[in-house]
Amino acid sequence: MKVAIVGAGISGLAVAHRLQRAGVPATLFEKSALPGGRVSTVSQDGFTWDSGATSIAPRGKSIEEVLLTEMPSEGLVRIEKPIYVHEALRVSSGEISHSHSPRFTYSNGITEFAKRLGIGADIRLNSQVEDIKANQSSYTILGEEFDHVVLTLPLPQTAQLLWTLDENRPLSNVSYRQCLSVLLGFADAPAPLPYHAIIDPEQVHPMGWLSVESEKSPNRAPEGASAMVMQLSPRFSKDNFDRSDEFIISTALSFTRHLFGESFAHAQVALVKRWKYSQPENLARFEAVNQPGSRILIASDGLLGGRIEEAFECGYRVGELLLNA
Ligand SMILES: Cc1cc2nc3c(=O)[nH]c(=O)nc-3n(C[C@H](O)[C@H](O)[C@H](O)COP(=O)(O)OP(=O)(O)OC[C@H]3O[C@@H](n4cnc5c(N)ncnc54)[C@H](O)[C@@H]3O)c2cc1C
Repeated sequence: MKVAIVGAGISGLAVAHRLQRAGVPATLFEKSALPGGRVSTVSQDGFTWDSGATSIAPRGKSIEEVLLTEMPSEGLVRIEKPIYVHEALRVSSGEISHSHSPRFTYSNGITEFAKRLGIGADIRLNSQVEDIKANQSSYTILGEEFDHVVLTLPLPQTAQLLWTLDENRPLSNVSYRQCLSVLLGFADAPAPLPYHAIIDPEQVHPMGWLSVESEKSPNRAPEGASAMVMQLSPRFSKDNFDRSDEFIISTALSFTRHLFGESFAHAQVALVKRWKYSQPENLARFEAVNQPGSRILIASDGLLGGRIEEAFECGYRVGELLLNA
């Protein structure tokens, strides 16, 4: 059985990992220079930020065994401080439900999880798949033939690849939120904080989420400095997605100044990451999209839920469908 997986985010890597456990090799095609997709880490001038997903909360799913038992624990960080909430930037501990799940990252960045998951896999980096050709009993991708193909892109992009095959699946109702993430490196650190992140549970304020990376894990900022990631709310991100970096950064800095004082009105490093597809607003049904016997399968966070552990779970389920085929 020759299996191609398009996309080396967590869904695609989980499919490959599940197959690898059963001794079945697979080839992953990834358009970027690194695996991980929305599990991504950026480093600059001594600062390190998780620029997409900011932590892994296994919640008892298949990812837990792989993350906590199978993989080496070196560099794995259990985030000890909770998540607080804010209402119009007034911060409080809020309800325990926002912080009760154990959360993890790696000291050198969350993307380490993707790197470890991909060990031993055949990953073709810088390989963007623009079309797939259907032959009588196989498929051709970038000049290679495969018996089975798994598509793992955000569902609107998966739908576009399916069109090149004249295939249709019930994906059209799924849309994704846009997210503006601002990566900030400050020369100062706030006084020790009782939280590692703050969320606006209602998502009415433009600051939807703030993660203090240097509270989350060691080594994220030089001595005495601090690193933060601010995710602007879905509404603000949609309305301002194409505005200049200067505008987006100055908006973010007005909030850090309000929260932590004058030293946080200016950043030593400030970068904007625009996520066109951050998390799904609604889901397609796994069973409706992946019919038994189909040689084109789909694994994505748009099927079971817009989180790392759900993307992983979906990849495992698709891996099992292939092994049963
Ligand atoms: C800002 C943000 C915050 C988030 N916060 C959290 C959080 O706190 N907790 C949590 O659990 N989850 C969070 N998530 C969601 C989580 O990151 C995703 O649910 C998960 O990583 C999705 O994995 P995936 O493999 O399904 O998709 P992706 O990670 O999108 O992987 C798809 C891969 O396909 C590649 N690709 C795309 N097109 C092509 C092509 N044509 N050819 C080849 N390769 C292609 C992409 O480069 C990518 O690597 C967040 C996401 C974002 C963006």
